[in-house]
Amino acid sequence: PSNDMNAFHELLGNSRHILALTGAGLSAASGIPTFRGVGGLWRNHDALNLATPEGFDENPSLVWQFYHYRREKALLCRPNAAHTALSLLSIPSVRHTIAPESSFHHITQNVDGLCPLSLSAVSALHSTTSPPDVTDNLPVLLEMHGRLFDVICTECPHVEFNKSSPICPALAGTENHIADANTPDVAPEIIIDKKDLPRCSKCGALTRPGVVWFGEVPKYLDEIDKLVASADLCLVVGTSSTVYPAAEYAARVQSHGGKVAVFNLERSNGDGGTDFLFLGPCEETLPEALGLTSAISAIQ
Ligand code: NAD
Repeated sequence: PSNDMNAFHELLGNSRHILALTGAGLSAASGIPTFRGVGGLWRNHDALNLATPEGFDENPSLVWQFYHYRREKALLCRPNAAHTALSLLSIPSVRHTIAPESSFHHITQNVDGLCPLSLSAVSALHSTTSPPDVTDNLPVLLEMHGRLFDVICTECPHVEFNKSSPICPALAGTENHIADANTPDVAPEIIIDKKDLPRCSKCGALTRPGVVWFGEVPKYLDEIDKLVASADLCLVVGTSSTVYPAAEYAARVQSHGGKVAVFNLERSNGDGGTDFLFLGPCEETLPEALGLTSAISAIQ
């Protein structure tokens, strides 16, 4: 793959339908751990095993403690320059100076809320000139794996957006029992009675985090299919490309003649066939590749 910035700028400038696909690496510089590599452990557990419906059925207390930790962490974090770059690309008046004829959509696998936070902050700055693009009636931002701050009832259809800290009294302080890959936690397991876990405000049943777990069906698959089918440039940012179906979108864009540019700290799954590969922290490479470095420093 090429890492020629000038060639990428030319491609970008001529693109009509730009699609960004982002993953946990987008938020790494904001302080949110990814699931793979250092930081991929929580207490002594592999984070991947806690993000499953089976894990929740077996031990809802442990899984709620993990999500409480992730919620508390996300509440302390702010979007970084890579989030801002993608948000600026969502603003037609900004994007059209870079790619005059283009539309833009952003599919994220992240659940941390930093993409929507960044988008609303950047949109507010540009509100007098141009709202985010809604030309094709598809949202600019699709959070395909759900949202950390949504809480879903396990019995009734009630879903609520809840940013309370802590989400319930019994979980308060449990986030302090945190270890990363380098410092295993030897503290005893904290057992919280099911009745003290977050309950539905409508029917009182146990709730669960509003994220899509491994083995569950992602959201917006129909909308995503349309975007993947029409994209002529796909920016793949901070994802290990191991979680399906997201991992196959770039290859699908290429299969109908579109181009793919990968932005990752290191080589990742399937990037051998990509058209452009920019290795390094995406909070640096992405603003540079999009020609937005000075626009971002003016905002941040
Ligand atoms: P992943 O953890 O599998 O991979 C992260 C990728 O980001 C790696 O390839 C790594 O090399 C790269 N990376 C790390 N820091 C980077 C940086 N500064 N710049 C560029 N690249 C960087 O993440 P994934 O592919 O998104 O899959 C994990 C799944 O877990 C997803 O389904 C997601 O929903 C979930 N998850 C979400 C969050 C979040 O919301 N922030 C965090 C962890 C996991």
